Amino acid sequence: MNVQSKNVMIFGEVRTNGRLHPATLELTGKGRELADALSDSAGVSVVLCCGKLEDDVLLPVHYGADEVILVEHPSLSFPNPEVAVKILVTLVKERQPEILLAPATPQGRCVFPALAAKCRTGLTADCTGLEIERGTGLLLQTRPAIGGNVIATIKTPNHRPQMATVRPKTFAVPEPRPRKGEVVRPSLPQESFQSLTENLDFTPFQDKQAPVRDAEVVISGGKGLRRAEGFGLLRELADLLGGSVGATRPTVEAKWIPYAHQVGLSGQVVSPKVYLAAGISGAVQHLAGMQTSRKIVSVNKDPEAPIHKIADIALCGDLYEILPQLIQRIREERGTLDVEI
Ligand SMILES: Cc1cc2nc3c(=O)[nH]c(=O)nc-3n(C[C@H](O)[C@H](O)[C@H](O)COP(=O)(O)OP(=O)(O)OC[C@H]3O[C@@H](n4cnc5c(N)ncnc54)[C@H](O)[C@@H]3O)c2cc1C
Repeated sequence: MNVQSKNVMIFGEVRTNGRLHPATLELTGKGRELADALSDSAGVSVVLCCGKLEDDVLLPVHYGADEVILVEHPSLSFPNPEVAVKILVTLVKERQPEILLAPATPQGRCVFPALAAKCRTGLTADCTGLEIERGTGLLLQTRPAIGGNVIATIKTPNHRPQMATVRPKTFAVPEPRPRKGEVVRPSLPQESFQSLTENLDFTPFQDKQAPVRDAEVVISGGKGLRRAEGFGLLRELADLLGGSVGATRPTVEAKWIPYAHQVGLSGQVVSPKVYLAAGISGAVQHLAGMQTSRKIVSVNKDPEAPIHKIADIALCGDLYEILPQLIQRIREERGTLDVEI
């Protein structure tokens, strides 16, 4: 890859089991689009730091990367932001990327602020949109601001790289295509792998239900449920459809359901095949977490509720009348519905 041209670098994420985090491929696809908009010669590199990679190292190439920079070291078996920052500082100095992106996962959120400070550049966190400005070639970084009440577009005109993090599921994973690319294993100074932190233990988060962010069907409830028990009805519907239950922030604050289920600006971003919103008004902060869902069904008794405006199917009425009927119909017509979803 030509280091002189304006390149896009992506700090990909490898999970503790050695598998690529899907957000890496989402960002690789977006990185390709941005590179193509920058110039014909702009390339995309994906940096992977891990203990040992279990996926095919060339996987990102099929999603738009020109090269994969792989750093495998025992000190990276568990994410170590301190080591990752040192590695990335070296790579940024060497390669001078125009744009540097990472998923807004806990790892990306730890590494990128420190990296931006070391590179003396800006960082736009949690972007919901990225594009290249015509004429200037600058990265337009879009994100909700002021509590989600405005959508801001941020530019970094004077410093490089232009750095942004993007929440997983914001962009779709592109279709893989057979492409050729390089694998680079950089030789880094031993000092890069020294760390003041030591990983003593790792306890994975335990939850019997599938995480809401990975579900293909999400049945979400809001304050319109009126009581915690209302989530039982949503659980019943979600179980029938093999989905998970989502929630709005006020229901989480009311302790009706744990935070892991919260969808929105300060919760999870989901992009399922079907998102059903029951008793949810459709505040911008909630929409920020679900508006890329493929089909949105709203159930709200207020015909003016904003959620109806973005829904593909808007059901105006009492959720306690509509959902039991829906459950009954699904039970009666199970076979047909399974096929449709
Ligand atoms: C910085 C910040 C971050 C935030 N982050 C998030 C976030 O991550 N996620 C999030 O969800 N919110 C978030 N919020 C809160 C957000 O602004 C809204 O307050 C919240 O989304 C509203 O939740 P709701 O729809 O459950 O409640 P409400 O707005 O009170 O809506 C309840 C709806 O239920 C309907 N309803 C009532 N009874 C029935 C019935 N029987 N049948 C059918 N419909 C009925 C009503 O018509 C109403 O539209 C955030 C706010 C801020 C300031």
